[in-house]
Amino acid sequence: MRIANLAGRLALLTADGAIDVATGGFDTDPAALFRQWDALLGWAADDPATAVPYKESDLLPPVPEPRQIFAVALNYRPHTAEAGYEEPAEPLVFTKFPTCLTGPYATVGLPPGHVDWELEMVAVIGREAYRVPEEKGWDPVVAVTVGQDLSERIVQLTGRPAQFSLGKSFPGFGPVGPALVSLDELADRDDLELTCVLNGEAVQHDRTSNMIFPVPKLVAYLSAICPLRPGDLIFTGTPAGVGNRRTPQRFLTPDDTLVSRISGLGEMRHTFRSAP
Ligand code: ZN
Repeated sequence: MRIANLAGRLALLTADGAIDVATGGFDTDPAALFRQWDALLGWAADDPATAVPYKESDLLPPVPEPRQIFAVALNYRPHTAEAGYEEPAEPLVFTKFPTCLTGPYATVGLPPGHVDWELEMVAVIGREAYRVPEEKGWDPVVAVTVGQDLSERIVQLTGRPAQFSLGKSFPGFGPVGPALVSLDELADRDDLELTCVLNGEAVQHDRTSNMIFPVPKLVAYLSAICPLRPGDLIFTGTPAGVGNRRTPQRFLTPDDTLVSRISGLGEMRHTFRSAP
């Protein structure tokens, strides 16, 4: 199942278009997604109705108001090396505050500073979970999707120690989508190909199988401390190739187009403007 937030209503996305979940008798409110999840999965498997065309720009964040957004720093070795750090012994966690979320084809306002890209797979919690053992770490995750952990590096790295969360939470800094993809759609949920393309040039390319801390470890680690709730998002870390660590450095400008692609999940496309 590929389920999206189309102009504020839950809709299945298929190769032919979108199917409003009201045609199956479901509540269309995105906030009602996870209590209907299993029933929606069954309905979606039955090829329920005729899809209709839709505008990409009408897609909004599939989970518009998660209660918690966790994000993981330094979860790929080449990115850890380019950032100049040693490999962490345990996951390094910060948050993206939920007001930063935006849709998969939005135009993002650039605040003053150095705004950088970070393509990441996002794991979506669908079930209450607390103190999950690592061997059951996928259990509360019902879907994955594509995310960008957009980051303004000056705010992010100000102070000793640096505090990451605010520099990663400007409006529009949390693009997610285009759809939540249920795990049964994936041949191997632990090995997805990530490709981030800036103005036609591939700037990041890796596979989720190369994570230092894979999804089950992240779920175990986070849920040992914080109870996880349906709709919570986990940004699982970015591969090498961010702009801040290039020579010369490179940051997003109003003319740029950023494509964020993960195999099996689809792609997002963002343009930028100067923030007022
Ligand atoms: Zn990140």
